[in-house]
Amino acid sequence: MKTGEMKLDGNAIGGLMAELFGMEMTTATSVCRSCGATEQLACVDVYVQAPGIVVRCRNCESVLIKIVRAPGRTWLDLGGLGTIELGP
Ligand SMILES: [Zn+2]
Repeated sequence: MKTGEMKLDGNAIGGLMAELFGMEMTTATSVCRSCGATEQLACVDVYVQAPGIVVRCRNCESVLIKIVRAPGRTWLDLGGLGTIELGP
């Protein structure tokens, strides 16, 4: 782990994801595009590296989601995700 990098779990971005998607996302199931692993968003690995947040697959460490925030703007890259399954 590099200095200045903080590893968290998906609950750390629960509030941010709820803000971006307008719903509770930690209970959503993400599918890794790279290895096909499914994981609840609450359980993925989250790395906070200023100014961004990187979400990685726990299975293969591929980047699933990148989020960069600046005042009044958010860049959201979901390129590593195969699917997000939203349930009740
Ligand atoms: Zn994976």
